[in-house]
Amino acid sequence: MPVINDSKIDPNKILPMKYPWARQHYKSGVANNWTPEEVGMQKDVEQWKSDKHLSQTERRLIMWNLGFFSTAESLTANNIVLAIYNHVTNPECRQYLLRQAYEEAIHTDTFIYCCDTLGLDPEEIYTMYNKVPSIKKKDDYVVNMTLSVFDPTFKTIGIENIQKFVMDLVGFYVIMEGIFFYAGFAMILALKRQNKMIGIGEQFEYIMRDESLHLAFGCDLINTIKAENQDIWTQRFQDEIVELIRKGVELEKEYAYDACPQGLLGINADQFSSYVEYIADRRLERIGLVKMFGTENPFPWMAQSVDLSKEKNFFETRVTEYQTSGNLKWD
Ligand code: FE
Ligand code: MN
Repeated sequence: MPVINDSKIDPNKILPMKYPWARQHYKSGVANNWTPEEVGMQKDVEQWKSDKHLSQTERRLIMWNLGFFSTAESLTANNIVLAIYNHVTNPECRQYLLRQAYEEAIHTDTFIYCCDTLGLDPEEIYTMYNKVPSIKKKDDYVVNMTLSVFDPTFKTIGIENIQKFVMDLVGFYVIMEGIFFYAGFAMILALKRQNKMIGIGEQFEYIMRDESLHLAFGCDLINTIKAENQDIWTQRFQDEIVELIRKGVELEKEYAYDACPQGLLGINADQFSSYVEYIADRRLERIGLVKMFGTENPFPWMAQSVDLSKEKNFFETRVTEYQTSGNLKWD
């Protein structure tokens, strides 16, 4: 019973399960439940509306990241619902995909909440993905990688089509959620470390925790399809994926320099770029490819940001302790 192209599968018969990793990711997702309204925005509003707290550099990187993420979350959600769900017929994987789709709705909601509370112009934020070249290039890049799967006649039959489907997974899980989100995460969390826009910072921490699960599910799915269809994993296909990731890293660095050309207090712009390389190496290794940069993590504090349970008791925030088990890993 393979994870795709199982002609005998009943997608409604979830027991007994074949892929415990899918079930585990579902349970971890549920244990991480949160909603944006639980995070107070009073301090952020105060800082955003006054001219004493934030530099032009800081305002720019906040706008760039709100502009990128506000639309990237729905691009990702559309891909799950309109492309992936259709082809992954295994019931426990589908259960996870439904959970992930819900989390993407929560993320979309986070940016609605940020726009509302900060009083931003939605027309400005929600058109940045068309108007800001460094954002548009990233979105266009993944959308183009995944066009063939959106074709209503597409089927995952035969080596070439399975490779196209794996390309879609690489595009969205590895490149979009695994690389294109991470310069932004690092910037916003660097600001939070300086006590600036801590509400947005906390929301980004929750989003990052969710995304690390999305990425883990996507990589497990890719690795399972690989194991079940070994003839797709040719040297040529591997080289193609490596090239796509290399180009993705370039686009993410371009975005990082554009969003934050001067760097932030204590962090220069090159460090965001090194962080992108470090992250990309981890993604390559996660899907069984050789790392290409060998760059050290310039922000070891990013790894700790995923584990939020210790941070929840600050009196400024009212986040409910949803998580019942501390089983998160940084990957
Ligand atoms: Fe998301
Ligand atoms: Mn996601």
